[in-house]
Amino acid sequence: MTTDTHPIVLDDDLWERVVEISGGIASACYQCGACTAACPWGQVLGEPLSVRKMVRRAQLGLEDGATDIWLCTSCNQCLSLCPRGVDIPALFRSLRNEAWRKNLVPVGLSSVLWDLEWGGNPWGQPPSERAAWARDLDLPDYTPEHELLLYIGCSSAHDPRLQRVARAVVAVLRAADVSFGVIEDEPCCGEAALGLGNEQYLAEIVERNERQLAEAGVTDLVAISPHCFDMFASHHSAEAVGTGFRVRHYTQLLAELIENGRLALGQSPAAVTYQDPCFLGRGHGVYAAPRQVLTAIGGLELREMAENREQGLCCGGGGGRMWMETPVEQRFAVTRAADAQATGAGVLATACPACLSCLEDGLKVVGATDIRVMDIAEIVEAALAPAAQSDHEHAQMLAAEAASA
Ligand code: SF4
Ligand code: SF4
Repeated sequence: MTTDTHPIVLDDDLWERVVEISGGIASACYQCGACTAACPWGQVLGEPLSVRKMVRRAQLGLEDGATDIWLCTSCNQCLSLCPRGVDIPALFRSLRNEAWRKNLVPVGLSSVLWDLEWGGNPWGQPPSERAAWARDLDLPDYTPEHELLLYIGCSSAHDPRLQRVARAVVAVLRAADVSFGVIEDEPCCGEAALGLGNEQYLAEIVERNERQLAEAGVTDLVAISPHCFDMFASHHSAEAVGTGFRVRHYTQLLAELIENGRLALGQSPAAVTYQDPCFLGRGHGVYAAPRQVLTAIGGLELREMAENREQGLCCGGGGGRMWMETPVEQRFAVTRAADAQATGAGVLATACPACLSCLEDGLKVVGATDIRVMDIAEIVEAALAPAAQSDHEHAQMLAAEAASA
């Protein structure tokens, strides 16, 4: 924790670099403290994390060797309440960038980026295994004739639990007759480099990705992970990839498919609560689409947690925190698991690999046996059971009839 007993060192170079890297975003802060009150770390540390003070120090170029900058999960809770619109997560990433420059990075984070560089993923998995999860699925290589590129992402490609989510997405897209392709040597989106604040390495990754996507002629990318979605939507240049390049999260695509009659869902009675992934909700304002998809399932009852949408608690897995150790009593997901359990729902739905992993861990910690975590894709796939599939075929038939009328 930061304390005021640290010697204060005025560092003009730091001030200049932070201003340069962050675009001077801290300068608008007028020290109201709303960010400190909003930050979820206050719920698990026993005292507030003084985000306001950290912003002040960055404003003034005060160096105190604080390690608190590595706590930030980029949940955007502070940004959503800041009356001056200070992009605090971006500011902390700038400070982390400084830490890389000074080699003051927590143990283990360098190897995450080396894994990314040498293996193409931050999980230390062999690149030759990236497409192994889908060997029996016969997924086509993307060509510009496809409707869209399905971007799988490192977590869904390499983690056995998350591979099930990717398979569910594929099953649902096939049920809706979506023409899609994948890139077999899919590049990492670079989210780890962003979250850990290594701006220089991030720039290299982004440039490589933009070139690869442009060469492949990708104009429509649908990502399984909100983190990948955010990377391609906000940290890659649409102009660099190609005219008309657009990016969606898969729940947005499913909501569109349902709305235009291409995806019909059957019955799947269940009480479900929903965790808004930060990078989808507060990050991009995508609150409605996941709920539209869930409530399109017959018999599904959506029970909101007390804090939802803009107020939803982060799972704790963003901002590079997946690669940092968090003591059990400080894991946001444990609090969130208890919130979900309090709804009485039997399913805790989410639409993010990080949320899914953290929340499954959180439910184990609270010892919940009456509720399980599922990705929305898995819930939708279950609603494509034989009865639902005949509904789907029926809807397709009606659509075909309407088209020929
Ligand atoms: S909420 Fe915004 S203006 Fe208020 S202290 Fe935090 S950064 Fe500054
Ligand atoms: S982004 Fe979230 S974790 Fe980071 S400082 Fe803001 S509220 Fe705290």
